[in-house]
Amino acid sequence: MNCRHCNSPLEHTFLDLGFAPPSNAYLSKADLTKPELYYPLKLKVCTQCWLVQTEDYTQADELFSPDYAYFSSTSSSWLAHAKCYTDVIIEKLGLNEKSFVIEVASNDGYLLKNFVEADIPCLGIEPTDSTAVAAENLGVPVIREFFGKALARQLAQQGKQADLIVGNNVYAHVPDINDFTLGLKTALKPGGTITLEFPHLMRLIEYTQFDTVYHEHFSYLSLYTVSRVFEQAGLRIFDVEELSTHGGSLRVFGCHRDDSKAIEESVNSMLTEEASRGLQVLATYQEFQAKADQVKDELLSFLLTQKQEGRRVMAYGAAAKGNTLLNYAGVKPDLLSLVCDAALAKQGKFMPGSHVPIVKPEMLREVKPDVVLVLPWNIAKEVAVQHSYIREWGGQFAIAVPKMKTLEENL
Ligand SMILES: [Zn+2]
Repeated sequence: MNCRHCNSPLEHTFLDLGFAPPSNAYLSKADLTKPELYYPLKLKVCTQCWLVQTEDYTQADELFSPDYAYFSSTSSSWLAHAKCYTDVIIEKLGLNEKSFVIEVASNDGYLLKNFVEADIPCLGIEPTDSTAVAAENLGVPVIREFFGKALARQLAQQGKQADLIVGNNVYAHVPDINDFTLGLKTALKPGGTITLEFPHLMRLIEYTQFDTVYHEHFSYLSLYTVSRVFEQAGLRIFDVEELSTHGGSLRVFGCHRDDSKAIEESVNSMLTEEASRGLQVLATYQEFQAKADQVKDELLSFLLTQKQEGRRVMAYGAAAKGNTLLNYAGVKPDLLSLVCDAALAKQGKFMPGSHVPIVKPEMLREVKPDVVLVLPWNIAKEVAVQHSYIREWGGQFAIAVPKMKTLEENL
């Protein structure tokens, strides 16, 4: 296999999680009587451009017909994050009713509705029908397609180039990063701005976030690598911000290569930090598997101890992260009886691979578990505050990543 960005042969494995079912393949009761498909889950690192990427395997297309769609608006903290971004960027770029904003992967309109409210013309691009309908109900126009060079060309021909193109948590999920980036270039007006948010590979390595790896998450990105991808497409990055979302993300600001915008100090400073943490040194990548294995071993050891001591463990959050973690650790319902999740679409289903039943959060009060393992550790605080009543019966919250631990009272 060759690198999806620079086409160099990929010779080095960053992480091998064995085989896993697609992370969004939640099972019905009837599915439990059928065989389940597992695919290799392995990341390679390119020693030329340092793009960390999933290994290709056959039948990848099968992964992309999920009947479960995630609605961004279900997370109140994400809505607040989107509103805050909108207020700042409108001011910073001086956007008004004559501007045009495109959001790629606009989901249920959680972000663009803020531009609609500010009377700034906008367009969402979203292939998933159910979320696109939700966005349209908020007054957001949506094109139901995948974004790339071909679609961007059509938009440009229709005079629909944008002053601002937003891509939040889509860049890491596109199979062809070069085509997507050429699309950004093509759909961007002269003088326009691109902002992309994606989880930062530097934090993934620092905090052993191996559970953020799943098949649909194709690329694991550093500023260094994204700068190279942008340059090849005729773009450049002029500013970067660090965000706390998803355990540590970057928001990059891009423009046409020949734009007159000055490059902010933040760009060099982050490139220097990445280099000082060894992001362009092979050994950094080769040491990661052992760190991931240690997290997995500690989780198993914790769950076995709870079982031996007769303590009941439930999980919170039937998210993709949880599926990667449970499947790599080989956890089954004997060690983790139930997982609760607020999303109605998941309740009554079973986690892929581990087959842990998914129930409504109200079950916490009925079951009264001794330990609630929060699988999406990035929202652990939010969950612990919302369900603090588990302390009434001596219950405790715990997380497994970056390290197995119970959460303190003062959360
Ligand atoms: Zn490469």
